[in-house]
Order: sequence, then structure tokens, then C-alpha cells
Amino acid sequence: MGLRKRAAEEAVESEVIKMVKIEVLDMGAENAKLLIKDSDRAFANALRRTMMSETPKMAIETVRFQMGSFDLCLSCGHLNPAAAARESSGGSGCNQCGKKLEKEGVDYTVWETNGALPDEMVAQRLAMIPIPTDHTMFHYEETCPTCKDLVPEDRGCPTCNMIYTCKAFGTEEGMTVTAGDMIYLGDQSLEIPEHYRSIPITKLYKGQMLEFYATAVMGRGSQHAKWSPVCGVTFVPRQVGILNNKTKAKILWDLNLTINAKDFDKDGRLEDIEKVETLAKELHHVGDGTEIQTEFKDAITIEDVPGEFIFSFETDGSMSPQTALEMASSSLSETFSSLGDDLKAVL
Ligand SMILES: [Zn+2]
Ligand SMILES: [Zn+2]
Repeated sequence: MGLRKRAAEEAVESEVIKMVKIEVLDMGAENAKLLIKDSDRAFANALRRTMMSETPKMAIETVRFQMGSFDLCLSCGHLNPAAAARESSGGSGCNQCGKKLEKEGVDYTVWETNGALPDEMVAQRLAMIPIPTDHTMFHYEETCPTCKDLVPEDRGCPTCNMIYTCKAFGTEEGMTVTAGDMIYLGDQSLEIPEHYRSIPITKLYKGQMLEFYATAVMGRGSQHAKWSPVCGVTFVPRQVGILNNKTKAKILWDLNLTINAKDFDKDGRLEDIEKVETLAKELHHVGDGTEIQTEFKDAITIEDVPGEFIFSFETDGSMSPQTALEMASSSLSETFSSLGDDLKAVL
């Protein structure tokens, strides 16, 4: 028992001491490429899986659709319940401005909340729209400082819910309702970003309208893919080019491609990550299936660098790649520290 305990403690300590190094190779608005050093496949994969399934992200979870048919008052834009306010049915005029609703097309137009797509499908599309996620302003409902103690059905407050509204009317020739038609009830910085405003939701024709309140909550990709902020998360071993035979390598240089002898250092190594990628492609000219292969043999080889990986991913636009990486790392370290605590408790 004593021995087992010490071994477990040492294992936990050695994990803490061993620091993984991460270098940024490329960081765009929605994509990132990193070099992970002093690590192993298990770590890179843990980071990959955490990014996909444990990074907190806001996504639309519930949608309340307004249902019914309405008389739109052309004087003030108020939606009156259909027929009730019309002159012909004994109504007293627009509920808001009092204008008499006599002639359709002059005083009012008739709109019905229907469209080609069923509400379920619209809701599914809304869930996939990247909602800008601010981790300093919003929390998971279950850990929300204001409402975590309430029963789940009663939860939902300005620090754990984001509400978007949309009211759209069709046109004769058809109007595409897009993510940009949703209005955020709150700070302007949390409107759907410019780049994603053109995401289509549905298309409406004259007489068709759509009105809804959509609530976004914080969730994890492990619950539903809509809460996964990243896509195409991959890692490959970092590779270097090795010049084994200078004379034979000339066969490749003579093809006048991008990479040549000058790119290799005096020890015959090519370390530049992008150049190695290019070299790997160019080696196909002298590799398997080519006539020249038997002569070229292994004059230049590509080798994996132990413990180093090139990690790349894209985000869906709900947060920057830096944020996704930071949130995933903190989520991962929380998991490990709680695992460490559990181990200490049981051993
Ligand atoms: Zn009116
Ligand atoms: Zn709350």
C-alpha cells in the first residue's frame, strides 16, 4: 500500500514537472497551427479531444416561435391579431394607433407565421449559428453564480442566457432570412459577427412571416456538436528532412523544384516546417512508382521528430483560436488536477 501510494504521488509530481512547450506557427482569425514540443501522442490527443468536447461555448438551445396570423397595420407597423381589428368584422381599428383597418393592401396586410421550413428545422439551423462566446460574461447554467441553486427548469438569467430575437417578413420574390436578421437583446458586441451574418435560416414569400425568441446557453461539445467550437482538429508528428546521399540527391535538385541543397544545413538536415512539407510533396517525383526510384533510393528521407507534433484546428467563429486553446487547456488541467486529487484520496 505504502509503495503504491508513493508511486502514484511520483506519477502525479512528474506530470507537473514535465512542461509541454507550445509554439505558435500560424494564428489567424479562425485557424491556428501550433508546434507542440516535449510531449507525446497521448497529450496531443487529449488536447484535441478536450477542444472538441469540453470547451465551453454558447449555442442556441431553445427557440420560442410566435404563432398565428396577423393584420399588419401599414400606418404604425403594429401586428394586430388577424381579423379582430378589421372594420369588416366590427373591429375598432389598429390596437396601437387606432387607424381604421378597411382595405387590405392599403390599411393593412395579412401575414401568417408559416414558411417552407418547419419550425424544428429552423430551430436546428439556429443551433448551428456561431454565437459569439464571452467566457468572462457568461457561465454554464449549472455553475451560474446567480441561478445555480435553482431547479434546472427555473434557471436562466443575464449571466447564463443570451437572447436573440428575429422578426422577418417575406416578399413577392422571396426573402432569405439570415443570421444577420437576429437581434441580440443586450450588448452590441455580442451581435452575430459580420462574417456570419449571411448564414441562411429560411426563405419567406409574401404573406409569410417568422418571429422567434432564441435562447443561447453555455454547453460542451460532448453534449451536442453545436457546442463544439472547433473543427478539423488534427495533429501530425513534426518531421525533418535528412540528406543521406549528396550525390544521389542531385537527381531531385536537377528537377528544379522548390527545395534544393542550399535549404539543408551543414549536417544535412532541413528543419523548417513549411519547407519540409514542400519537400515531402516533391519527393513524390522520385519516390514510389517512379522510374527514378531505384537510383534515388533513400538519398533524402523524411523522419519524425520524437515528442514534437504539429497541431492544427479551425474555430466555427464563436471564439478566437487563442480563446479556444486557452479554454481547452484550462479545462484539461482542471480534469487532471481533479484526477490527481481523486488519486490522492483513494490510494
Ligand atoms: Zn397602427
Ligand atoms: Zn444564471
